[in-house]
Amino acid sequence: MKIHEYQGKQLFRNYGIPVPDGEIASNAEEASAVAQKLGGTVVVKAQIHAGGRGKGHLTTNEDIRGVKVVNDAESAKSHAAALLGQPLRTHQTATEGQKVKKVLIEKASNIASELYVGMVLDRETSQVTFMVSTEGGMDIEEVAATQPEKIIRQGIDPATGISGFHARKLAYGLGMEGTTAKQAAKIFIQLYKLFVEKDASLVEINPLIITDAGDVMALDAKLNFDTNALYKHPDIVELRDADEEDDKERIANDAGLNYVSLDGNIGCLVNGAGLAMATMDIIKHVGAAPANFLDVGGGATAEQVTKAFKIILSDPNVKAILVNIFGGIAKCDVIADGVVVAAKEVGLDIPLVVRLEGTNVEAGKKILYGSGLELIPADDMLDAANKVVASLGGAA
Ligand code: GDP
Ligand code: MN
Repeated sequence: MKIHEYQGKQLFRNYGIPVPDGEIASNAEEASAVAQKLGGTVVVKAQIHAGGRGKGHLTTNEDIRGVKVVNDAESAKSHAAALLGQPLRTHQTATEGQKVKKVLIEKASNIASELYVGMVLDRETSQVTFMVSTEGGMDIEEVAATQPEKIIRQGIDPATGISGFHARKLAYGLGMEGTTAKQAAKIFIQLYKLFVEKDASLVEINPLIITDAGDVMALDAKLNFDTNALYKHPDIVELRDADEEDDKERIANDAGLNYVSLDGNIGCLVNGAGLAMATMDIIKHVGAAPANFLDVGGGATAEQVTKAFKIILSDPNVKAILVNIFGGIAKCDVIADGVVVAAKEVGLDIPLVVRLEGTNVEAGKKILYGSGLELIPADDMLDAANKVVASLGGAA
């Protein structure tokens, strides 16, 4: 689960990690009031669940960028007014952008250097791992590709946790000395504590800055949390902004379905994560692309299948549907019921290929073929994949 920068910075404050003074604003008047209170030069920052805002701009006006340093409250007000309610496009958003509902107004910092700090769980070593670099402010993927030696990694053994040694190594690796290195070391220790205590899955500060005065501060804050651990963290759940999430993923999540939106045009309804992966693979294999990953689960009810089918049909990119069911605990007749109810409620005007196998397969087929729905039966997975591609007039 993602949160906004301003929420991440509040968590940083709670953990004693320095961030610039600032407040959130939902309209131009509030933005102006905050800027006045802060005084002097301020930064206006669009709050969306995507990075690259500094280089990104409104889809409606290419001159309006997502992050802007302004000299007074009047300019803060007008930039906030320009951003609010408009879609901001960055390299991390869809082309239609994401609507700006809030702006963060912060006291501007005097930047001497911009550094990069990232933390992830490294699955290979099973350790929370720091990745830091002197190449802050830049796209870190590009640094990783062109100057990998500029990224310093440090894994932390969960049994012992972080020590001063780790933190100093990172600070010195960033070329810091004296009180600057001390401040950074304290930040690394607090970041580790935050990451573990709140079950984060990613923390990224790009840039972590050193000011003209030699102080260290987080100028940006990107935090993701492990959804499987959210039940332990009601304070984090409260930070959820459902508007920023993929509608289909949210509805699926609420219905207990495992759904991930993808870029292709073939909607998939499958039971079991393994079969769902295999289905996506075989669609790719025959030269097409899946529109989603969808696992209705082992014990799917007809209601869940109906919801799943409706979610797939609500995606305008979906041009054909492949239902691939291997009935085990989930019975073919139950799935068939769900499909028929959904297709009749929503109206099905795209090709539907169905491959059923396993528990109650005959009853399932009876329901489907007797439903009056126009569907294309398939014998096995490859046959199903070929038929769904053929229904679209051949491979893309
Ligand atoms: P992102 O583009 O979404 O990652 O947004 P950031 O919060 O990282 O801001 C983008 C860039 O704006 C930073 O890399 C800085 O170069 C610049 N910036 C942000 N805040 C300040 C500030 O207080 N002073 C100055 N001079 N530049 C800033
Ligand atoms: Mn940034």
